[in-house]
Amino acid sequence: MATFRHRALNEAATHQPGRYFAEEGPVSSYFGQNVLTVEKLQKYVSTNAYEAVLAAVKFGARLDRGYADEVAAGMKDWAMEMGCTHYTHLFQPLTDSTAEKHEAFITVKDGRPFERFNGSALVQQEPDASSFPNGGLRNTFEARGYSAWDPSSPVFLMDGTLCIPSVFVSYTGEALDTKVPELKSQQALSDAAVRVASLFDEKVKTVKVNLGIEQEYFLVDEALFNARIDLMLCNRTVIGHTSAKDQQLEDHYFGAIPSKVSCFMKDFETEAYKLGILLQTRHNEVAPNQFECAPVFCEATKAIDQNMMLMILMQKVAEKHHLKVIFHEKPFDGVNGSGKHVNWSIMTDTGVKLLSPGKTPMNNLQFLAFYASVLRAVYKHHFLLMTTVASLSNSFRLGGNEAPPAVMSVFSGSTLYGIFQSIVNMKDVKEPEGEQESIKLVNSIPEIFPDNTDRNRTSPFAFTGNRFEFRGVGSSQNVASVTYVLNSIVAESLNEFRDLVDELEAKGEERSNAVMSIVRKFTTESQDIMFEGNGYSREWEAEAKRRGLRAVSNVPDAYEVYHEPATIELFRKLDVLQPNEVEARFEILNETYVKKLQIEARVLGDICQNHVIPAAVRYQNVLIENIKGVMDIFGAEVETLCGAEVSTLRKISKYINDISADVEDLVEARKRANKISDIAMRAKVYSREVKEKMDQVRYSADHLEMLVDDEMWPLPKYRELLFF
Ligand code: ADP
Ligand code: MG
Repeated sequence: MATFRHRALNEAATHQPGRYFAEEGPVSSYFGQNVLTVEKLQKYVSTNAYEAVLAAVKFGARLDRGYADEVAAGMKDWAMEMGCTHYTHLFQPLTDSTAEKHEAFITVKDGRPFERFNGSALVQQEPDASSFPNGGLRNTFEARGYSAWDPSSPVFLMDGTLCIPSVFVSYTGEALDTKVPELKSQQALSDAAVRVASLFDEKVKTVKVNLGIEQEYFLVDEALFNARIDLMLCNRTVIGHTSAKDQQLEDHYFGAIPSKVSCFMKDFETEAYKLGILLQTRHNEVAPNQFECAPVFCEATKAIDQNMMLMILMQKVAEKHHLKVIFHEKPFDGVNGSGKHVNWSIMTDTGVKLLSPGKTPMNNLQFLAFYASVLRAVYKHHFLLMTTVASLSNSFRLGGNEAPPAVMSVFSGSTLYGIFQSIVNMKDVKEPEGEQESIKLVNSIPEIFPDNTDRNRTSPFAFTGNRFEFRGVGSSQNVASVTYVLNSIVAESLNEFRDLVDELEAKGEERSNAVMSIVRKFTTESQDIMFEGNGYSREWEAEAKRRGLRAVSNVPDAYEVYHEPATIELFRKLDVLQPNEVEARFEILNETYVKKLQIEARVLGDICQNHVIPAAVRYQNVLIENIKGVMDIFGAEVETLCGAEVSTLRKISKYINDISADVEDLVEARKRANKISDIAMRAKVYSREVKEKMDQVRYSADHLEMLVDDEMWPLPKYRELLFF
């Protein structure tokens, strides 16, 4: 009897490599063809309307409603020329995914069909917001929220639909998405960074955040994926014995890309290019069937939007290739998980990269000011920053022996680390002698060449020459939530930096001395966050504890950081999030944690009851028949003849008993947790009791997988999922 698994394996074997989205000509000939830039829009609208949109895009000005109809009509004309029939506002609710509600252009008036898209539909759409997480910000009786066009991101085409990047807010104005706080945090950071940058150059008017987002993912054959209900429903395997070979030989990382995969990559790259996403790198990752792609960095909001689009696009393109893309942080136990490395840097409108050491002492002083402010920010809010990447799915990855640990530290590289050590050890600049020394120090670092070579892969937050790379971020996460926290903490720190310099200058201190003095103060205060060693080591764990750094050891416990005054105050004073919005996010995080774990626990129970136990019982019967047969022929000799079978039979029976009892316990644990009305408490109980029980169930299931006849095992095994 062929099992579901064997049918899936047969089907997977028929899947051949092929290209479905190939384009003629060089990439430059179709790059960005599905994006409506302001320049392209110019052809479809009057000069006045064009200028109004330009102002909205460039300076965040509100689009004059008088032009909205004209702009909408222009967009529709372009979209229809491109074969488009629908439009949608595309927003990023608090689910780490995107949401869309398509509406047709087509309408009928006086019996005559025609296409329409007016200004109000462009500017605002009203999806039924009650179905999105809102953390109590909106009662269902006033369920309306609305999405509003964010002109700072251009509209684009996907799947024959005109997509309008939007923000999503409640009727009373609270943010219900990740984009609103992200946009606000850019403003806060720009304001603060300009205050510090203008100490060095009066001409600086704005500062932009750049992001380069590296995306890791797994690919699994669609037939095998569909034969695993855990992958289908949870995007991760809740059981599965490790494959005899996985990543031990370290032969996958940067290895030759299999042709099936390379066809898929080329196809999604083509589609990404059409959307103006400048993908630059592709390679195999450490685990089998794990890969990575990265675009060239760009301005933060665009980078975040493009990353979300890329994830959608990859999933769509994968369908054609009979592949499933898995963005879950830890789909397979025992092999590396996936992250999203977020490369973060800041740049002035005058073109100065504020995290690049410069060629002159003054430039370097500016660099040191910004670097010290980041250090100080990450130190002060290290636990908040770490919590921004805390989720159920990322918790299976962080702190494991391949991923950045769940405690924050900053890696600077030996050159910079040395420079900061000497700054810390300087004498107080206020002393005449010290003054000398500080100036000397400023003068003595005409050029800093941070060594990009000794890049420490074990650091969660590493300086890599001209940017910081946050490696703790989960592969399935919307980067916006990490970005607004990072922007906010750095903004706070830069504001303090400037205030302190002003104070010293008011006391008559010369500017470069004042700056150096605060660089030193910030660095000295933040010493404990600097760590150059192996972040995966046991020693660091102990050392971090000794330094008083807080680790995220339990996700719902960590979420309590959103109740701490330092967090609430941070967002409030920078106008990134108001206290009730922070509270709403806290609720949603807990709710999401509970729901996901609830689904996983149910799926695990079902798999064990409906797949694992029946397969084990079937094999148990085969063994019993065999032993009985031997006994019929050989009588008492059976004990010696069937020693191995009897032993296996005993083990199987034991695991069946264990697993049945553990699944029952798991159900009970869930029921008990579900009775707790406070969502944060419920999440905590889920994280302790339910999660722990799941590990026990899995233990028996994975042992049964090893014991039961391969022919009878119903679920695709790790070796098949990872090496299709
Ligand atoms: P690695 O895997 O070695 O870290 P990748 O080339 O895969 O390197 O990814 C590096 C990412 O960092 C790319 O997206 C790149 O565009 C981005 N990046 C480079 N310079 C900057 C910068 N100044 N600011 C932000 N991101 C940057
Ligand atoms: Mg990287």
